[in-house]
Amino acid sequence: PRAGERILDVQRARKQFGGLVAVNDVSFGVDAGEIVGLIGPNGAGKSTTFNLVTGLLPLTSGSIAYRGQDISRFASRDIVRLGIGRTFQHVQLLPGMSVLENVALGAHLRGDYRPQGGVLASVLRLNRREEAKLLHEAACQLERVGLKEWMFAEAGSLALGQQRILEIARALCSDPALLLLDEPAAGLRYQEKQALATLLRQLRDDGMSILIVEHDMDFVMNLTDKLVVMEFGTKIAEGTPETIQQHPAVLEAYLGG
Ligand code: ADP
Ligand code: MG
Repeated sequence: PRAGERILDVQRARKQFGGLVAVNDVSFGVDAGEIVGLIGPNGAGKSTTFNLVTGLLPLTSGSIAYRGQDISRFASRDIVRLGIGRTFQHVQLLPGMSVLENVALGAHLRGDYRPQGGVLASVLRLNRREEAKLLHEAACQLERVGLKEWMFAEAGSLALGQQRILEIARALCSDPALLLLDEPAAGLRYQEKQALATLLRQLRDDGMSILIVEHDMDFVMNLTDKLVVMEFGTKIAEGTPETIQQHPAVLEAYLGG
């Protein structure tokens, strides 16, 4: 991406589930090399917004563009191929398989990756050469995120902070220009959060853009270039961490007035 390029452009994105408006005509953008935080109380529509961007849910109305291309109606695997990677709010690992296999599997399944989605069938269709290539790519990404020495450990044996970083390595295998992280710091210890923040800054310095949902305000304020605040499906504020901290609507949403 070139400096200043608009990577993600969300325009009046709307998602209704029956009578519930989970995302209410929300607009925001993410530029090249930016870390943007998406914050707001539980149920605000943050994860649903991620699902709209990654094509896991169809928009009710509005549009989403990635690097100038309208992806509103693209299937999730095509969106992943274009260069949007993501992690999910809840860790999605196969705990009995190795760290390396978990990353390789995710790389293979790409946009098709869902907790209940045909994992074994997909694995069984691989030939040896394809498998070797996948494992090589997975090992490269594990090195990049600092987990290479854990490659052959069972994924379930890792600390939560490492499991979250494993999931980031998996998302990196599709070579994304934009990474969407849904509450990656939730439940982590202080030092694990520090390690995560260091990794995310390193990825940003490599030119990646990051959109992150996170509840830990200290974490978000120290990491992000811009914040988008949602409440009840609506965007209530947008700005730098400094201005958002002073924003009346934000103070009200978080502190109840
Ligand atoms: P957040 O991630 O900000 O906590 P969500 O995007 O998960 O919020 O949810 C926003 C609202 O949409 C909530 O009221 C939630 O119950 C509802 N919701 C999310 N996904 C679905 C779905 N698949 N079907 C029906 N309602 C949903
Ligand atoms: Mg959520």
